[in-house]
Amino acid sequence: MIRVEEYKLPQHDLPSEKFLHPKKVYLPLSQHIGKPSKELVSLGNLVDEGELIAKPEGKVSSSLHAPKKGKVVAIEYFPHPVLKRYKGITIECQEEEKKYFRTKDPSLLDKEKILQIIESAGIVGMGGAGFPTHIKLNPPKKIDTLIINGCECEPYLACDYRLMVENTQGVFGGVEIICKILQPKRVFFCIEENKPEAIKRFNSSISIKKYDLPSPQIVVLKSCYPQGGEKQLIYKVTKRKVPSGGLPFDVGCLVQNVATCFSIYQAVYYSKPLIERLVTFAGDSLFNPKNIWVKVGTLISELFEQGILQFKKELRKVILGGPMMGIALDSLDYPILKTTTGVLFLSQDRIDQEPEQECIRCARCVDVCPMGLLPLEFVKRVKRGEFEKLDEVFIKDCIECGCCSWGCPAKIPIVHYIKVGKLYGTHR
Ligand code: SF4
Ligand code: SF4
Repeated sequence: MIRVEEYKLPQHDLPSEKFLHPKKVYLPLSQHIGKPSKELVSLGNLVDEGELIAKPEGKVSSSLHAPKKGKVVAIEYFPHPVLKRYKGITIECQEEEKKYFRTKDPSLLDKEKILQIIESAGIVGMGGAGFPTHIKLNPPKKIDTLIINGCECEPYLACDYRLMVENTQGVFGGVEIICKILQPKRVFFCIEENKPEAIKRFNSSISIKKYDLPSPQIVVLKSCYPQGGEKQLIYKVTKRKVPSGGLPFDVGCLVQNVATCFSIYQAVYYSKPLIERLVTFAGDSLFNPKNIWVKVGTLISELFEQGILQFKKELRKVILGGPMMGIALDSLDYPILKTTTGVLFLSQDRIDQEPEQECIRCARCVDVCPMGLLPLEFVKRVKRGEFEKLDEVFIKDCIECGCCSWGCPAKIPIVHYIKVGKLYGTHR
């Protein structure tokens, strides 16, 4: 693990804002791990806010809902931050805002019914992974330890912190629902020490004993990266090691991000599908970094067009997500996805543009790898085209955290080589 510059101010300490009236929303049919969803609407259809517009296809998939009332004006391929271009639905939005009222009492619902609600609401892992939550919450092995991930260890990002501070009750409500499904023996709330207000609020929520949680405990962790990785967090809290190629349920654990907990709460109590989320907009190019509630499908460019965000320095790089694991974008015309935690706008001052040099075999990348891997071996084998030899060095265990690239004195974009290796390794 490494200590990285945090760059979390000022957005960390500013109350979140809202931008919930985009002119249009662009909704790719693939915003999750698994098969893309299948559209249920046609050109010209009128849709209501929260209406199902695409259904899951296959076992691992997710549904998609209209984030606003409006008219379907296109079903076509448009820019996708990860897949470059992908088929999606464009809705021209009306201003009208739907009100959500408390509709259900989860104490009257059984496990199957709750999982069905979570599936119908299109909830996926909102920390970035995008794995359908109803599948994750129905593991093939017994879970005894639930870990709530409030670490948010990537620099700049602060949306989880604001959510924990401003919506503590909703996050706890979601955790209570997860406990009803999994029946764990204990719950750990993991928060880094740089989030004092969240720690305070979580501690008081536990002490009032309002929530039905088994042995809840707040774990305050020293800030370091990649603390929020599932396997890292499980080891830190339980000293259990997820085996190579294994998943957290293999060691009786399940890790859930706080934003996903909040979405579960909204779906189960208010019948509100996953149609909006809190996103961090930050970086030294930005005049006014902040966290904003936005509708899924909002174009990043619209936030500038509407004057919600402004630049103060020349923009040289845009990153979707954090600087360690995020993806560089070539324009602002990309939509916010269900999995978008942040968008960073960086000037020349924050970009390392030195050219790649030969590996000097310093082993710094090996020292910092949280998975105990040999990053320099990945680079060597990919450069030689030895994709069939990548499994021998456990490339699939790489969580693409970026620690190796971050410290490499030869400026080798190691994660880029790893991604290429995984891609070619899979398709050979
Ligand atoms: S940190 Fe960079 S230069 Fe050092 S061994 Fe790893 S790849 Fe080579
Ligand atoms: S090899 Fe993978 S897991 Fe290890 S530091 Fe690099 S990106 Fe992270």
